[in-house]
Amino acid sequence: MMSFDFHVHSVYSLDSLMHPKTIVKIAKKVMLNGLAVTDHSTIKGALAVSKLTPSSMIAIVGCEINTALGHVTGLFLNEEIRTRNPLDVLDEIRGQGGVSVIAHVFKGSNIKNEKFKEILTKIDAIEILSSRAPMPSAEAIKGLKALNKISLAGSDAHLPYEIGLCRLLVKSEIHDVEELRKTILTKGAYGLVGKIGLKHWQAISSIVWRARTGNLSILPYESLCLGRDLWLDIKHNLKSSKDVIFLGTTM
Ligand SMILES: [Zn+2]
Ligand SMILES: [Zn+2]
Repeated sequence: MMSFDFHVHSVYSLDSLMHPKTIVKIAKKVMLNGLAVTDHSTIKGALAVSKLTPSSMIAIVGCEINTALGHVTGLFLNEEIRTRNPLDVLDEIRGQGGVSVIAHVFKGSNIKNEKFKEILTKIDAIEILSSRAPMPSAEAIKGLKALNKISLAGSDAHLPYEIGLCRLLVKSEIHDVEELRKTILTKGAYGLVGKIGLKHWQAISSIVWRARTGNLSILPYESLCLGRDLWLDIKHNLKSSKDVIFLGTTM
């Protein structure tokens, strides 16, 4: 079984301090087979990480764009996304052969806006599991299933101990980034697994952001890592791990 985290932030995001080297080190430690770095508004962090990853690990180049209708992630990118208009963001991602994703759909998506329905029609994938968003209810999952989109999972890690908390699981052997892209697009993944992180982790990110924009001088920063034990637990006892949610991609 291989597992991938599709949403990680590096120091290239103003609210994260994770150096690309740290990300690669932790990803190995928590036994991820690959990850997407999706910094706010830039692919620079993802490019830096992709240069450092060992050949056994798949690095996906991505970024997260804050649009008026919510956060949209682009995966498998080659170039920066220039526009901030929600529908144009989707077009730009597709134009690069990328996969567009509604990030943490249960947190911050402007679902009451009529235009969001258009986003839902055009988007390739929905990040259903995010360790920084509420876990989906059965009703919410039913609603998303009707949309027939690709389901993804990402930790939205801004701190080392969040990396790998939400993962997409693939049963077949994936050898490179193109194979992973095809597996996702053909809905060939096995399932999603994840766990909600601690609330104060999000508070730390906002303190980091404030410090880096000139409002604070002291940064709390630790390098604790909880992900490895969690992953071993999930692997050995997939559906019954306490506090861990498992969803097949067919839901
Ligand atoms: Zn976001
Ligand atoms: Zn994010």
